[in-house]
Amino acid sequence: MAEQTRKPPLTKEELQDLREDLMLADSLTRIENTLMILSGKGGVGKSTVAVNVAAALAASDRQVGLLDIDIHGPSIPTLLNLERSVVPGTSEKGLIPVRYNDNLKVMSIEFVLKDQSDEAVIWRGPMKHRMIRQFIAEADWGQLDYLIVDAPPGTGDEPLSICQMAPPRSKAVIVTTPQQVAVKDVKKSIRFCKTLGMPVFGIVENMSGFVCPDCGATHDLFKRGGGADLARETGFRFLGRIPIDPRLVTASDDGKPFVLEYPTSPTTRAFDEIIAPMLQLSAQRMKRH
Ligand code: ADP
Repeated sequence: MAEQTRKPPLTKEELQDLREDLMLADSLTRIENTLMILSGKGGVGKSTVAVNVAAALAASDRQVGLLDIDIHGPSIPTLLNLERSVVPGTSEKGLIPVRYNDNLKVMSIEFVLKDQSDEAVIWRGPMKHRMIRQFIAEADWGQLDYLIVDAPPGTGDEPLSICQMAPPRSKAVIVTTPQQVAVKDVKKSIRFCKTLGMPVFGIVENMSGFVCPDCGATHDLFKRGGGADLARETGFRFLGRIPIDPRLVTASDDGKPFVLEYPTSPTTRAFDEIIAPMLQLSAQRMKRH
């Protein structure tokens, strides 16, 4: 009789990986849609868009998770005035995200790095990989209609390796400004998504036009429309444009999502337009069930 080949027992690390794989698979069944907010470079308003899109979806009665994995500049805790927050502990399932309101939960790399020295941020690839997996697999997100992910800017190795860990079925929302729409930058982001096999959900043109604080009217200070042109050229959806609005800066500095502070402003209407097709994603799901 042929001798049965015995597999060697799993190492502790392999067992841990297996456990995380199972938890990840379990978590992913409860996250309906993941939207990775990406930008070609920093400073274009990626985090501002991530926070306000998440808050607007939550205000539309959807269950939303906001995950900040912008390792070198996590700003979501500041934008939501959660800087002093700590992850409130662990449940049976893992880390418990911080609850911002009934419909919005937040997890940021900053919550767990708080007490560590600056050097802690200089992570090796495998450490980042593990941390981000834990944020998705081992965080107790519960049932989510949307997980909004604020990813690191750029199209280099780091965002690439982070986005490769994105849950399957993730879609990218690319944030740009009219000036940088100078084709090259957004095309780079689109190529980046292709490399990852990540579908592009759409393009947002931020800082497009200016809302006068005195009269409330929108003026086209800079060139605009580049985002829409590019969307036409590439065939991706143009989600909409957000004007330069000084109150966006003060709301951010005060740690309040603009869309909740100024629900009737034209800038909030711009965000509402942007989230309309996102809302359709969960509406379609509801129809299927
Ligand atoms: P990123 O995440 O791309 O680095 P941020 O979201 O941190 O960019 O935004 C950079 C700065 O620009 C912040 O001070 C933010 O308040 C400001 N900002 C972003 N979008 C707008 C806008 N539409 N109008 C006015 N200021 C904005």
